[in-house]
Amino acid sequence: LSHESLLNHPNLPDPAKPPAWQDTKRVKAAFVILTRNSELDALRKTIQQLEARFNHKFNYPYVFLNDVEFSPEFKDLTSGLTNAETHYGIIPKEHWSYPDWIDVEKADRLREKMGKDGVIYGDNLSYRHMCRFESGFFYKHPLMADYEYYWRVEPSVEFSCDLDYDPFLYMKENNKKYGWTISLIEFESTIPTLWNTVKAFIKEHPHLIPKNNLIDFISNDGGRNYNLCHFWSNFEIADLKFLRSPEYTAFFDYLDKSGGFFYERWGDAPVHSIAVGLFLNKSEVHFFNDVGYRHDPFMHCPVARELQKKCHCNAEDNFGK
Ligand code: GDP
Ligand code: MN
Repeated sequence: LSHESLLNHPNLPDPAKPPAWQDTKRVKAAFVILTRNSELDALRKTIQQLEARFNHKFNYPYVFLNDVEFSPEFKDLTSGLTNAETHYGIIPKEHWSYPDWIDVEKADRLREKMGKDGVIYGDNLSYRHMCRFESGFFYKHPLMADYEYYWRVEPSVEFSCDLDYDPFLYMKENNKKYGWTISLIEFESTIPTLWNTVKAFIKEHPHLIPKNNLIDFISNDGGRNYNLCHFWSNFEIADLKFLRSPEYTAFFDYLDKSGGFFYERWGDAPVHSIAVGLFLNKSEVHFFNDVGYRHDPFMHCPVARELQKKCHCNAEDNFGK
């Protein structure tokens, strides 16, 4: 080991070199991880797997976001796991608080009731801020400004297959806007008025809805009702242009104004998924079948023997087989 290599801190970009994303074929992309200081150990396990299965070959940067300051320990013990750049950001107050049109007493009352009714996270206010942030704000954070694609990661998730190609480049070269691994059915009690709000949005903004969309993924009756189907958004690889587009912006703002993130408990998964259904066509959406992925209680494991070669998951336990 040379002295020089000891002196070169691996997490600082070399000022003599152009930024890594300026290399040929490199995509301006990052992992984005919203998390709390208390989740450090769960997250370390996740990063270790992500590095071993993919990122030690590609060195895509990490953006960590938090509603409070990250601790020095958190920064040390996450940056130590990767050679890639690591960035730590605090979320602006206005992206993690009640907007002024929300009736806070009404929100408190309805939250308490949802808790008593046994709805999962029903009485939880920070969960609502989280869902609203993931729906409409993470991609507006200054640390995300230079990126074109993101891969969302959460503490505790596991990656069980080698990924030997660059999924960001795949997305870019194939004009994919949204990638997923697991899809499931939402709890209806968390979104009682979501679909009516979406229909009102469509009525007011018909020009924003392309003809050739994926409405049949989210509705079994041509748009009259939501079928509750959604991509599980704890894993997403997507094009930030999609979320930053005028149509997604109008869509999120409309939902946000209606108050459903607080009066009900709208999740970012149905919000993103409905937007995919309204604004994208089938060729723009990609199923990452080759990504072995677990977020409890479900796992995606590629079932085809050929794809299993570099995996350690049990295909018998694949969700939705
Ligand atoms: P679940 O997957 O729906 O059960 O929700 P999680 O508890 O996994 O939360 C989703 C993501 O948001 C995870 O990456 C969490 O670390 C993060 N998260 C949730 N609540 C908070 C919070 O209050 N503060 C911060 N900083 N992150 C949060
Ligand atoms: Mn989670």
